[in-house]
Amino acid sequence: MIRNIKLAARAPGQNTTIIDVNGIKVGQGLVIIAGPCSVETESQTIETAIAVKKAGAHMLRGGAFKPRTSPYAFQGLGLKGLKILDKARKETGLPVVTEVVDTRDVSWVGEYADVLQIGARNMQNFSLLREAGKSGKPILLKRGMYSTLEEWLNCAEYILAEGNPNVILCERGIRTFETYTRNTLDLSMIPAVRRESHLPVLVDPSHGTGLLPLIAPMSLAAVAAGTDGLEIEVHIDPQSALSDKEQQLTIPMFESLMEKLRKLRAFFDESEIQAEERAQCGTSAPETQFTLPSAFSEAVD
Ligand code: PEP
Ligand code: MN
Repeated sequence: MIRNIKLAARAPGQNTTIIDVNGIKVGQGLVIIAGPCSVETESQTIETAIAVKKAGAHMLRGGAFKPRTSPYAFQGLGLKGLKILDKARKETGLPVVTEVVDTRDVSWVGEYADVLQIGARNMQNFSLLREAGKSGKPILLKRGMYSTLEEWLNCAEYILAEGNPNVILCERGIRTFETYTRNTLDLSMIPAVRRESHLPVLVDPSHGTGLLPLIAPMSLAAVAAGTDGLEIEVHIDPQSALSDKEQQLTIPMFESLMEKLRKLRAFFDESEIQAEERAQCGTSAPETQFTLPSAFSEAVD
């Protein structure tokens, strides 16, 4: 039982909340957010956006403000990056997910973003959470790397308590004694969040593992565990990336993963395996179907 949460708690029989992002319904079906770790150039971002859209992604991610471990590492393009994301949105129609790191930036970054991301390092930045709440924008709240479920849901509560109901959770791995992976992706949080909260929950297998060969298997595992979606880093040329080059999928890798996700999701939609979980969180089989734009369906069928 999670203490102190009121607005984030799932009441008995309550359905999962659906967050509408320009017509993309998070909490209904499998929503794929894909794009580069960082916005680097206009061509890198737009080419990636076009490719992930063609492969079936529903939203574009890309950081213009990068919270980096080292102050000397690439910090993001800031406003210039947001303008590039805006162009990519116009070009592809994909809603844009981008991180905000400073309370002073929430309102103006919100003019460029469709979803404001609050990163793991800022999960418990309570002033940022309050500003995010006041903005009324959909907020993607990543789990802090040292945070418990109780702490995470309390952070969602800060946003909800400001009158903003549009909170999407994202599990992105936590620090454990294991050093082989970048983080330990805690997929048990998917059914745990389901049990405790009505908010939709996504998984980020890119930061969650930090290792290319692990991203597809963990994405599939997240679908089997009932995730509402995935946030995946994709780059047209990962070797030249200015951040997280070792964990960004190439376009062909992303296309291949999307094909596997489509098949796995279709299998679960047709089978009874997840029926009990679906019934408990108020989603029916037809609503959970993983639909892809026709260009992609044609390419894989
Ligand atoms: C990101 O998604 O760009 C990011 C920095 O992730 P996290 O906050 O989970 O480390
Ligand atoms: Mn990254």
